[in-house]
Amino acid sequence: MSEFRKDPLSDHWVIIAPNRAERPEQFEIGSSKRTPGRCPFCRGHEEDTPEQTAAYDASGKMIEQGAWQIRVIPNKYPAVENVRQSRPARNDFFETRHGVGIHEVIIECPDHVTAFSQLNDQQAALVFRAYRDRMAHWRGDPRLAYAQIFKNSGASAGASLEHAHSQLIATPVVPTQLETELHRSAEYFQLHRRCVFCEMVDRELKEESRLITQTEDFVAFCPFASQFPYEMWVLPRQHSSHFEFAEDGKLAGLAAVVRDLVGRVEYLLNEPGFNYLIHTSPFGSTHLRHYHWHVEIFPRVSRTAGFEWGAGDYINIVTPEQAAAMLRSAQMP
Ligand SMILES: [Zn+2]
Ligand SMILES: [Zn+2]
Ligand SMILES: [Zn+2]
Repeated sequence: MSEFRKDPLSDHWVIIAPNRAERPEQFEIGSSKRTPGRCPFCRGHEEDTPEQTAAYDASGKMIEQGAWQIRVIPNKYPAVENVRQSRPARNDFFETRHGVGIHEVIIECPDHVTAFSQLNDQQAALVFRAYRDRMAHWRGDPRLAYAQIFKNSGASAGASLEHAHSQLIATPVVPTQLETELHRSAEYFQLHRRCVFCEMVDRELKEESRLITQTEDFVAFCPFASQFPYEMWVLPRQHSSHFEFAEDGKLAGLAAVVRDLVGRVEYLLNEPGFNYLIHTSPFGSTHLRHYHWHVEIFPRVSRTAGFEWGAGDYINIVTPEQAAAMLRSAQMP
């Protein structure tokens, strides 16, 4: 059974989820080498996982059975539990909530492909459409306030299985990081009557030094105050607050950009693990003028050490300008 606990000093929520400790580790401890064994995510091994909550065929149509291209299943070792909402509990000091929520795995392809960059454009587009559809689905659930889509790729990035997959964790609380971005962007809007993310896109396009790539609909750059070496953000050029309202065509374009960026990182940095995540508006809203959804990508090439743990601020040894220059020139083989 899991539980949300609020830290009385930082206001951070912590999910205490002891059953996650039981999940199998497919990678050898301390290495990226996989131990041999049957992959539960491959087509034909469906009985190794919980029953699917959704599946899509190659055209992106939702299917009940037959040849799936994307398969969504409940996480076998969930961080939060799909049970009835219970009242928040608070004694005179500690604040807790029952760990209600949704934890899903999105299996990105039926064959044993281990790198997102190895999916073709059509497969990658289906992955991002599945993200949107799952988010749109859970949006209607009154227990939930937010859904975080994320991908852990490689043992160093926290993946326990290598078959290409992503996850969704939907929670009754808005995560701390999101709260901070919402709060700051609302303040900026109050002051300047403009979305801070739209401003960021304009500035990066103008300054060019941190730009990596751009398309008709998206701009990718290393953010001005990147916390990590080679950190990359992808933003829609047009103001858009909710990822779950994005159209198919836009998502195909986004998937191609993310795949391109991940490919550049793999080529440039010898295939490090990486995480990416989607930040978007909370479920309780339909249009926000101050918030703008985006994708953040973090190659795992540095370690978080004592200073960062203590300060919550980061030391980044690669300038974002230098990182962007290298990423711009990275040629895919
Ligand atoms: Zn597999
Ligand atoms: Zn905007
Ligand atoms: Zn963000």
